[in-house]
Amino acid sequence: MTNSWVNWAGDQRCAPASIATPRTSDELAEILAQAGDAGQTVRVAGAGHSFTDAVLTDGVLVDLANLNRVLDVDTATGLVRVEAGSTLNAVSNALHGHGLAFPNLGDIDVQTVAGATATGTHGTGATLQNLSAALHSIELMLADGSRVELNAETDPDGWRAARVSVGALGVVTAATLQLVPSFVLEGVERPVPVADVLDDLDTHIDNNQHFEFYMFAHSPLAMTKRNNAVDLPEQPRGKAVDWFADILMSNYTFDALCKLGRWQPRLVPWIHRGAAYAGSYRRQVDRSYRVFASPRLLRFTEMEYAIPRAHSAEAIRAIKAVSTKFDTPMPIEVRWVAPDDAFLSPATGRETCYIAVHQYRGMPYEPYFRACEAVFDSFNGRPHWGKRHFQTADTLRERYPDWDRFAEVRQRFDPKGRFSNAYLNRVLGSV
Ligand SMILES: Cc1cc2nc3c(=O)[nH]c(=O)nc-3n(C[C@H](O)[C@H](O)[C@H](O)COP(=O)(O)OP(=O)(O)OC[C@H]3O[C@@H](n4cnc5c(N)ncnc54)[C@H](O)[C@@H]3O)c2cc1C
Repeated sequence: MTNSWVNWAGDQRCAPASIATPRTSDELAEILAQAGDAGQTVRVAGAGHSFTDAVLTDGVLVDLANLNRVLDVDTATGLVRVEAGSTLNAVSNALHGHGLAFPNLGDIDVQTVAGATATGTHGTGATLQNLSAALHSIELMLADGSRVELNAETDPDGWRAARVSVGALGVVTAATLQLVPSFVLEGVERPVPVADVLDDLDTHIDNNQHFEFYMFAHSPLAMTKRNNAVDLPEQPRGKAVDWFADILMSNYTFDALCKLGRWQPRLVPWIHRGAAYAGSYRRQVDRSYRVFASPRLLRFTEMEYAIPRAHSAEAIRAIKAVSTKFDTPMPIEVRWVAPDDAFLSPATGRETCYIAVHQYRGMPYEPYFRACEAVFDSFNGRPHWGKRHFQTADTLRERYPDWDRFAEVRQRFDPKGRFSNAYLNRVLGSV
């Protein structure tokens, strides 16, 4: 039987020598020892939601889906110990009963804790850092099966490297998360002309805890979304309303429009204008993680870049203009994130605007993404590690002030490159 692995989007696949699903960290240590004896490299798969070839290997692929327990909860401090294969959604659900929540989340929450943090997964909010900022301490298993507990005190450089590591240092087996008291969010979606949003961008960003918008290349409208914590009781929407809003309109109807665009690309401008005008006012008041995240059923691929916030409006205009030259039925998405100090975080050391472009499955993405990448390059953009890009270690090195310090930590933890793969060799260089 051939082992095979494929990512969520269905366009990154590999045939590993074996796929291992340890139930304990002792079993994992045994798997690493066997891989070492056989001279095989090792990669870890989270929930497979990266669009890049970050996970792919022809060596041993470790799937941590069975390492998914909540190990300890301290409601007084908000510190929660979880196994690394736990999904964000499972942690949110389990911890809500203890009155705790993630301070921020992206637009889905099915990723694993280790997978999401490894790529610097983020939500939106100019005062909020990416998800790896919720890490308080992590246990890393090295190639020889030894375990290191990393945090700001035990190993300051190791810690800054391990929070966003793209899996280059070893296997994260457990994490202590710093959560916050659970909160209710009011989410308001409203179409606004793109020109108006850009004219007053800082007000939108700074007057909301979480501001984002998406827009279509051929439409003058932006669909804005602002989420703010409120002192109101949860008002969960009925299942039918949820299904209509999240499944039928956002997924099935839009999927049908994308299929139409793939079949007849000349209809893309019409689809954009129709989809933008169909976007209407929506308000949701619910527990935080239900407002942050929603189901994504249609399949696509994506590129996303982190650029300095100061260039937001200029870059958004440029990407919108470039996008009119290519046939993609899908939107452009814009979010903001606070600076942090993880060596490889795309937001390291600077206030950040994230701009994402998408292509529907089965439609050519490369010419479009390359044209967008040229724009992002002109703003000294840093790619999301889990989303498509065409950079190499040579083009990336100068964009990260602490690039060499990450390389030193990598050399220290994985001197033989046992956790490398083609993606890491391309984007970080070989060990
Ligand atoms: C529909 C969709 C929506 C998305 N929305 C957002 C969003 O809102 N914001 C955003 O920033 N990103 C978003 N992403 C991207 C996604 O969050 C990242 O790609 C994330 O890394 C995926 O997590 P995962 O658990 O699937 O990890 P994977 O994709 O499986 O793995 C990611 C990386 O982590 C490594 N890894 C995983 N587990 C471990 C471990 N235990 N130890 C060491 N290394 C490990 C893997 O080897 C790989 O290099 C989205 C992706 C999709 C498909």
